[in-house]
Amino acid sequence: MSELIVSISGIRGIVGETITPQVVTKYALAFGSFLKGKKKVIVGKDTRITGDMVKNAVVSGLLATGCEVVDIGIAPTPTVQYLTKKLKFDGGIVITASHNPIQWNALKFYKQGGLLFENSDYSRLKGYLEKGQYNLMPWNKYRTVSCQPQLGDIHIKQVLDSLNFITRIKKKRFKVALDSCNASGSFITPKLLNILGCRVDSLYTEPDGYFPHNPEPNKDNLKEIMRFMKKSRFDIGFAQDSDADRLAVLDEKGNFTSEEHTLALAVYYVLSLYDRSSRLKKFAKSVVVNLSTSRMVDDIARPFQAKVIRTPVGEKNVAQSLIRSKSVIGGEGNGGVIFPLVNYGRDSLAGIGLVLDLLAFSGKKLSDLLNEMPSYVMLKTKFNIQHLDVKTIIPKIVKDFSKGKIDRRDGVKCDFDDFWFHIRASNTEPIVRLVIEARNDCILQDTIKSLKNYFK
Ligand code: MG
Repeated sequence: MSELIVSISGIRGIVGETITPQVVTKYALAFGSFLKGKKKVIVGKDTRITGDMVKNAVVSGLLATGCEVVDIGIAPTPTVQYLTKKLKFDGGIVITASHNPIQWNALKFYKQGGLLFENSDYSRLKGYLEKGQYNLMPWNKYRTVSCQPQLGDIHIKQVLDSLNFITRIKKKRFKVALDSCNASGSFITPKLLNILGCRVDSLYTEPDGYFPHNPEPNKDNLKEIMRFMKKSRFDIGFAQDSDADRLAVLDEKGNFTSEEHTLALAVYYVLSLYDRSSRLKKFAKSVVVNLSTSRMVDDIARPFQAKVIRTPVGEKNVAQSLIRSKSVIGGEGNGGVIFPLVNYGRDSLAGIGLVLDLLAFSGKKLSDLLNEMPSYVMLKTKFNIQHLDVKTIIPKIVKDFSKGKIDRRDGVKCDFDDFWFHIRASNTEPIVRLVIEARNDCILQDTIKSLKNYFK
């Protein structure tokens, strides 16, 4: 039996084991109580077959605590987040286990302003759960639930408003391959692309409750779209994870370099335009990325004299730093572009807009733009540490690699001229995650070899 994974931003588990109507309703009752009744909550979900059970349990808990519920149906996480802020909802709940396999489902909570929970919010929520006492309303204080899937159009409008070269994009009539994994991006993404005059050839945009492949947008899981793109002529390919916050970009030949390149392209574009855009100049000329994100970002930012701010891993850490520093762009190397002109969260639609704007602005092919990017090799892997004490291993690594620049804010990151690595222990599993990036494969292999010794 699996465990329910609880974090400050929500819960996650396998449906039928830990994600049950009882558990979901309890959390929805706690969320409704946290909002103190008479509040308006927006709810959206991805396309998993279990989504309706979870949604009905969520809606039930919210109604019982006096909330008014607006159900927008199948919607990307960033759409729910954006609408929570834009339409001044008191809270938002997204039902999605993101890139986790189909048997998983999850709740992600947003508070007013489309912001993720802080520790203090979670403590209050936990208080209700621990006592098992919720703000249950008498029958005559109940409010309604309404279905408003059309609200997603407001998110599309915001993405369009953030672009600079819509006329040029339309004129280009880009031929686009799209793999939404039959998930949250399936309706809204073709809609956005069609408005931009693109000719969309979709591979998986028919939600049937199941995923045609693992939804994590990395090289292993994108083989079908790569094959699909070889059969015809395209300008670009896009692939989204199941809640459409992360984006992978394929070049016109259907080649996929890495998910790290999505953010690199977005950063390059935004910084290229910064000095001539009054809208962008309202933000600081700086970029916020997590410690595990490719060094490409630093190389791209340097000639523009833009500062790069690194944060611990986690969307919330990057988003909070973006808000604090008023930076113009940021995100995570896993395909998560955060563009403050649209959203303070990872947003694949904002990412698609930026990449198409870049194609139109530069007039170049995507493969040429990718070839201009700094070239590194990266490996993301994990080690099992069931039999090891990670608390003693990390200080040993720090000591042995002390010639590098050490960052201890989130596990350990060691930076050298020719390579860097970042090691973090998981909070939920007995594993450590390792990301290494190096100038070439030889250096990469040497570094892995020496790091492996610590985890034997
Ligand atoms: Mg996701």
